[in-house]
Amino acid sequence: MLIEDDRMIGTAIEQALKDAAYAVDWVTDGETAVHAAENESYELGLLDLGLPKADGREVLRRLRTLGRKLPVIIVTARDAVDDRIDGLDLGADDYLVKPFEIRELLARMRAVLRREGSGSPPLLSNGKLNLDPATRQASFVDQIALLTAREFALLQALLARPGRVLSRSELERQIYGWNEEVESNAIEYLIHTIRKKLGAAAIRNVRGVGWMVDRSS
Ligand code: CA
Repeated sequence: MLIEDDRMIGTAIEQALKDAAYAVDWVTDGETAVHAAENESYELGLLDLGLPKADGREVLRRLRTLGRKLPVIIVTARDAVDDRIDGLDLGADDYLVKPFEIRELLARMRAVLRREGSGSPPLLSNGKLNLDPATRQASFVDQIALLTAREFALLQALLARPGRVLSRSELERQIYGWNEEVESNAIEYLIHTIRKKLGAAAIRNVRGVGWMVDRSS
């Protein structure tokens, strides 16, 4: 979840995150952020401090009171040491000062997700199928390919739950944000292109139910 009221910064971060295969829900005020966190399960929050309705500190305080173990990275122009200490003490997992390079934001996100153990480990694998989130490279048996952001996100969603069948709507929720129009055959198309790159056996089709990748072999 991206919590940012500045249109330009928000648009830039949202696009960069999508390019890096994250599904993004972007909210522009503090109230909506708390509400969204109560109703959806997110892997990570990027939190601006200067926000309408409830500012970032208030959002963080309420998230922590709710007992939500949502990892949060504060992304803000406030670079005073006091602000940073304050943010970390309120329960933020990391603090990044604007302006920053997107590459650094992505690396910090990966680091926080690794620490949480909830998101992407350095390498996702079930033994045969391997994914590297840092390079978006995938391999299956002896095939190696570079995936698009969407292809990567889809395979990552399946590989996070090996042996479990995910339906089309579950996959759509995992890899698209709120504001995105999803074509009815988008998932099938992604499955098709991934199979072309890695081999048909990389993803198993369970007719009428959905798709899966095998458990560790
Ligand atoms: Ca702001």
